[in-house]
Amino acid sequence: MRKLHLLSIVSLVFLGTQALAQSVDIQKAYTKEIKKLSSEQQIEKAFRTIEELEEQSMSDLIMLTEIEAPPFKETKRAEKFKEMLTEAGADRVWIDAEGNVLALRRGTKGERTIALDAHLDTVFPEGTDVKVKFKGDTLYAPGIGDDTRGLIVVLTTLRAIEAAEIETEADLLFVGTVGEEGLGDLRGVRHIFEAGEVKIDSWIGIDGGAIGRVNNKGLGSKRYKAIFKGPGGHSWGAFGLANPHHAIGKAISYFTEEATEFTSSGARTSFNVGRMGGGTSVNSIPFESWMEVDMRSVSPERLDEIDKIFKSTMNRALEDYNKGVKKGAPLTLELVPIGFRPSGEIAATEALVQRAMAATEFFDVEPRLTRGSTNSNIPISLGIPAITLGRGGAGGNAHSLDEWWMNVNGAEAIKLTLLITVAEAGLDKSRTIKKR
Ligand SMILES: [Zn+2]
Repeated sequence: MRKLHLLSIVSLVFLGTQALAQSVDIQKAYTKEIKKLSSEQQIEKAFRTIEELEEQSMSDLIMLTEIEAPPFKETKRAEKFKEMLTEAGADRVWIDAEGNVLALRRGTKGERTIALDAHLDTVFPEGTDVKVKFKGDTLYAPGIGDDTRGLIVVLTTLRAIEAAEIETEADLLFVGTVGEEGLGDLRGVRHIFEAGEVKIDSWIGIDGGAIGRVNNKGLGSKRYKAIFKGPGGHSWGAFGLANPHHAIGKAISYFTEEATEFTSSGARTSFNVGRMGGGTSVNSIPFESWMEVDMRSVSPERLDEIDKIFKSTMNRALEDYNKGVKKGAPLTLELVPIGFRPSGEIAATEALVQRAMAATEFFDVEPRLTRGSTNSNIPISLGIPAITLGRGGAGGNAHSLDEWWMNVNGAEAIKLTLLITVAEAGLDKSRTIKKR
C-alpha cells in the first residue's frame, strides 16, 4: 500500500456539486497492472492513434456541439452520435426506448460488460445559439465541455481501440445518455439499468473537468414541488377564506425547524427552499402557493429520513392551518416529486477505483476520490462498480452561455480513459488481430 499525501483537504466544485478530495491508497498490484498494460504494443498503438486523431476529434467536437441537445430533445444529436459510433466500428449500435445511444463491441469472452458513457443532453433550451466561436485557441459554445467533449472522449476511445485492433475479454458498451442534467433527473442511465437490455458489470462515466477526478461516491438528492391550493378571492371582500401563502409560511417554519435540528449532527445532509411562487395581485387571496425544495445527503438512510420530515411537516402544517379556516373550502396540498438521485459509495479498494487511481497516477496526475451528482449515481446506488472521470483539457463556465473549452493536453484524458477501460475489461493478448 502506498500513501499519497495531500497537503490538505481541498474543496472542488464541479457543476454545482461539491466534491471533497481524499487521501488515497493505491495497491501495488494495480500500479503494476497499469504499468504493464501501458507498455503493451496495442496500447501504445492506441495512444499514437489518439494523437493522430486529434484534428478529427476537434472538428467532431465542434460539429456535435453545433447540434443542439436541449433537455428532453436530444434526438438529433443522438442520431448523429449513433452514426459516428457505427462508423467507428462497433458490432451493434442502437437507440433504446428512452433515447440513449448504445454501441456494443464484443469481447473474446463476453462474460462481463464494461460501459463507457457521456451524456448527450445540455442544460440549454431549444433555440440557444450553439455556434462555436473561437478566441485564439479557446472554443466558446454552450455545452462544448459539458458534456459534448465527454462524447468525443467516448467516441475516440472506440476509434483508437479499433485502430489498434485491441481485443478485450469483456464486452464494451459505448454509451451516449439522455437526460443527465436538471429535470432530466438521470432518466437515461436510469432506463439502462431498469430495462436491463445489457447487463452492465462496470460503469465509467465521463463528465466533469480536468483529469484527476475519480468520482466513486454519489451525492443523493430528493426534490419536490409543494403546492397549496384554495378557492382564492378578494383580499377585503372575501377576507376569511383560506390563504395558501399563509399556510406555506407555516409549512416552511415547521419544516426548517425540524430539518435544522436533524441536519445539525450526523452524516452531512442539507435542505433548501429554492423557488416560490403563486398569487395574482396584492389585493387578492391567492388560489395557489408553491415552492420547490431540494434535499441532499451523503447517506441514503438520512436522505429517506429528511424526506419523511419534509412530508410530515407539510401535512401537519396543512392540518393545523385548516383547523383555523372558518369560511369556505379548506386548503389542499400536493407534493410533486421533481427529482430523485440516489446516493451511495463504491469502496476505494474496488478494482475499478484502484485501476482508475493507478492509471491517473501513471499520467503523473494525483488522483482525487470525489463525491458528485452524475450518471454514476445510479449504478453506485445498485452496488455496481462505477466512477466518473474528467473529460480533460481546460474549460469553464459550464451551464452558462459563455462556456469554453481549450485543448490543453486533451489527448491525455482519452488515453487515460482507454487505459482504465481496457484494464477493467481485460486485454486478450491471444487474439491480437481479428477480422471484424
Ligand atoms: Zn455533465
